[in-house]
Amino acid sequence: MLAQKLQDAPKMAIRIRESECDNCGACIEVCPVSAIEPPDGKTGPQTCRVVWERCTECVGYHAGPRCAEMCPLECIESDPEHLENRDVLRRKWHARAKEMRFE
Ligand code: SF4
Ligand code: SF4
Repeated sequence: MLAQKLQDAPKMAIRIRESECDNCGACIEVCPVSAIEPPDGKTGPQTCRVVWERCTECVGYHAGPRCAEMCPLECIESDPEHLENRDVLRRKWHARAKEMRFE
């Protein structure tokens, strides 16, 4: 299963394969840190996208990337351009939890 593969993979941010995404929004609903943005609708991105600086790979919330588990098209994958490790992800989780208190 894709979500299990991502859980076992070396730690990387998550990204959406834009050419396959149909903007159903399921990933946005389940992201605990609001790291997935909807399409811009104007001149910006035309599909959902992960703000990798916010994504904790669900560390602190779930055993693995919840968005990948819920995506009906299986178009969420690891992002090798943004390698991370568990300590970094934990720090991001704490920082993001603080930010979200003020949103
Ligand atoms: S892996 Fe988790 S934190 Fe990252 S975008 Fe997906 S649901 Fe959000
Ligand atoms: S769940 Fe999958 S298909 Fe739906 S918006 Fe997210 S990435 Fe796109």
